[in-house]
Order: sequence, then C-alpha cells, then structure tokens
Amino acid sequence: MKKRYTLRFSPTLVEQPLVSKLVRTYDVDINILNADVASGRGGKLIVELTGAEEALKESVLWLNQTGIVVSEMVKELNFQEDRCINCGACTAVCSPKALYMDKDWKLVYDPDLCVLCGLCVQACPMQLFSLSNEREA
Ligand code: SF4
Ligand code: SF4
Repeated sequence: MKKRYTLRFSPTLVEQPLVSKLVRTYDVDINILNADVASGRGGKLIVELTGAEEALKESVLWLNQTGIVVSEMVKELNFQEDRCINCGACTAVCSPKALYMDKDWKLVYDPDLCVLCGLCVQACPMQLFSLSNEREA
C-alpha cells in the first residue's frame, strides 16, 4: 500500500538518516515529494511511503518515537475545475507539471503528478484550489 505523510522536524532532528533507516529496518520505500528542510531551523517533508500495512504502521511509530511529528495526508488537492478560466497562472508555479495547458489552451490537472506543495493555492486568481486536511498518524 501507499500513503502520504507530512513529517515535521525540530532543528535537532534535521541530520537524522531517516530514509536509510526506513528502507533498511522496515522494508518501506520512501519517495520524498516535497522538502523544506534547513540545518538550524528544522523543516517539513512530504513523503509517500510504500510497503506492507504493518510496515507502514511500524515506520510511523518509529518516526513518532524519534520526535518527528507525523500527519497522514488523507485527501488530495481539491480543484473546482468547472470555474476555471484557463488563464494558466497556476501552471507557472507547478514544477512537477501536474498542471499544464493542453494544445487548445485548456488547463489539465494530473493528480498522479501532484506533490501537494500548495503553490497553486496562492497562484490561482479565482481561488479554485484548496489543500486537504492532515490527521495525526
Ligand atoms: S499542489 Fe498545485 S502546484 Fe503543487 S504540485 Fe499539486 S497541482 Fe502543482
Ligand atoms: S490559475 Fe486558476 S483560473 Fe487560472 S488556469 Fe489555473 S486553475 Fe484555472
């Protein structure tokens, strides 16, 4: 199974070798979708974990025990597509190309490419995007 989580770190936890620990100990693949981490000020990662259900549970437990605040991302980006005026402003901020204009200059949203960075939420003049809630994992 695959699940997306937000991991929030204090500055003292930034240097922890998280990825190798999860892969080696719990047999979980980790895909970092978005990273905002800097030495000295902590940070936030959005990750997708892939593995057996029990392995994901144990991984989250271990992350919590290390002091990382883990929230499961329970929904995807919400998009009111029917109100879109196809101005293209959101495509300029979407680096994974989850938002792009097709050959007829109509906006296309590909949820499989979306990393939930939230940049389109601010970019859209029509305020058509909102991000999902998170819940404590
Ligand atoms: S949240 Fe918006 S800007 Fe970020 S990847 Fe998804 S569609 Fe693109
Ligand atoms: S910025 Fe908003 S209105 Fe413009 S193309 Fe993107 S979703 Fe549509």
